[in-house]
Amino acid sequence: ESVIVAIDGPSGTGKSSTSKAVAAALGLSYLDTGAQYRAITWWMISNGVDTQDAAAIATAAGKPVIVSGTDPAEPTITVDGEDTSAAIRTQAVTSKVSAVSAVPEVRALITELQRSIAAAAEKGIVVEGRDIGTTVLPDADLKIFLTASPEARAARRSGEIKGADVAATREALIKRDAADSSRKTSPLAKADDAVEVDTTALTLQQVIECVVSLVEE
Ligand code: C5P
Repeated sequence: ESVIVAIDGPSGTGKSSTSKAVAAALGLSYLDTGAQYRAITWWMISNGVDTQDAAAIATAAGKPVIVSGTDPAEPTITVDGEDTSAAIRTQAVTSKVSAVSAVPEVRALITELQRSIAAAAEKGIVVEGRDIGTTVLPDADLKIFLTASPEARAARRSGEIKGADVAATREALIKRDAADSSRKTSPLAKADDAVEVDTTALTLQQVIECVVSLVEE
């Protein structure tokens, strides 16, 4: 039968690396929901929609066609057929994504897309995000909530970005988490039945092993 794993938490906790590795180890599909919110944000910026104008974003939200490839070995994301894998990771997108993803119409559309992708995954899927266990897939077989100290998260994130300043990265991360946690519609939150894993003192390999063993239990 198919197994659904929800992995939530703030950025810099090793969520993406862990989710991809767990999916690959168990032969499951993989979905990066942050990439979908980044993709819709990229489309808004590219089409001159003011990312502070919630009404304008709501009106345009249904226009871009976002397609996610769910192979954990090679996750892809396209918008209207264009590969946006690199474009969605730019600072321009990262700084606007919280505002765009706070718009309820955006969340409704992306949530529906996520549920249909999960339903189509034959062997099952690992879905990573902020509201997967609470809102998108509340009946997931296993829910994980990853945490880490702000210092560890900033160090990991700046390690991923060329020439990044750790202090500035830390500030930006804290700001984005605060925005994601305080929005009214499905904020970043731990589900009551999620297993919390503090990754601060763990290696990536240890986190992966921990989650795989929880799935296999
Ligand atoms: O995971 P990542 O850092 O790429 O996510 C980018 C942003 O997308 C988050 O900061 C958040 O604003 C939004 N997001 C969300 N709900 C999710 C996943 C991501 O609102 N399930």
